Amino acid sequence: MTVVLDPVTRPHPLDDARTQLRQAVDLLGYDDGIYAMLAAPRREVTVSIPLRRDDGTTELLTGHRVQHNLSRGPAKGGLRYSPDATLDEVRALAMWMTWKCALLDVPYGGAKGGVRIDPRRYSIAELERVTRRYTTEISPMIGPERDIPAPDIGTDEQTMAWMMDTFSVQHGHTVLGVTTGKPVSLGGSLGRATATSRGVVHVALAALRSRGIDPARATAAVQGFGKVGRYAARFLAEAGVRVVAVGDQYGAVADERGLDVPALEAHVDATGSVVGFTDAIGGDELLEAEVDLLVPAAVEGVLTAGNAPRVRAKVIVEGANGPTTPEADAILRAADTLVVPDILANAGGVIVSYFEWVQANQAYWWSAAEVEARLADRMLAAWDRVSDHAGRLGRPLRTAATALAVERVAQAHVQRGLYP
Ligand code: GLU
Repeated sequence: MTVVLDPVTRPHPLDDARTQLRQAVDLLGYDDGIYAMLAAPRREVTVSIPLRRDDGTTELLTGHRVQHNLSRGPAKGGLRYSPDATLDEVRALAMWMTWKCALLDVPYGGAKGGVRIDPRRYSIAELERVTRRYTTEISPMIGPERDIPAPDIGTDEQTMAWMMDTFSVQHGHTVLGVTTGKPVSLGGSLGRATATSRGVVHVALAALRSRGIDPARATAAVQGFGKVGRYAARFLAEAGVRVVAVGDQYGAVADERGLDVPALEAHVDATGSVVGFTDAIGGDELLEAEVDLLVPAAVEGVLTAGNAPRVRAKVIVEGANGPTTPEADAILRAADTLVVPDILANAGGVIVSYFEWVQANQAYWWSAAEVEARLADRMLAAWDRVSDHAGRLGRPLRTAATALAVERVAQAHVQRGLYP
């Protein structure tokens, strides 16, 4: 397949995901048949969502659910509400979920959902109607043994509660295992809300140490202050890292002496943004800040051939999915910047989603300490496995991680055999 890339402008996550897959397939010596099977989603559905607005008018929204791979178990992955959600973006995100689950040995295939909507422009009641209609449209393909949605950009535990309720009402009984990332009062797991960020920080500290950087003397910049960036900043600060710059979709702020993260969180709760907390900097300045650690925790395609030559962080830990394009990866590698890939770095979310599903299916809940300990074990074991493999191969962490994951999925596929 010829991939035509546009390095500087709009992100092309599906091209990026397929380029990464191609590199892994070539490294593993697999044939084009395996590449073709893994490059294409197993199932995808596009649905229309008619919405009655609060003012009585109606509007038609579009949603997608893509199941990329089912070889290792039910499909698993988040649901995104974003004005930029496209089928290709959802396909890429579903593919990355397959690798993430395989790499962390979580017994799922990968999936993703997206609804093209700017949730900030809709009331809670409208979002509830969108969610219930979308769930109804995709309900034949979801379920605890089929496909288990979770929160992603623009969705939260309330969205998952509505989805679980809609599915349950349609089936005549409560089905807690149909979504994860639910409120703790409705079968959610302790530790799920902060799991992605905990995982990011576990591997960030290990990655800094692997480069001989003492976290207690390190500086960090975090892009994104939502479900991932906010708690990543908090846990980094708690680990002694000086968080010197933070940004969200409205702007960025910096303080060389280190931001007071709890005070910043209080500011964001009061105003809805990091803007105004302290000195403003540009979004580009944040990504190019002279720091030990950069955590892009917002959207895909933010580190490109355009800005990668100016990135000065020594270690990049991908809290977001797909923040670094393959061209940027090559530039960062040449500059000896360590990039910890998304499928490893942000896997804490799906790990605790798995724990939530296991707990819901058994109707037996674990303590917060047990969840946290099991999460840390899995993240650090995966870090060791990927960094050892990268060392052995003499390749970047992303290539090593993708190859390990692709190998697991391909093995499951081959061992199951083709039917008929
Ligand atoms: N949306 C999260 C991710 O991209 C979590 C997915 C899940 O828990 O299923 O990893």
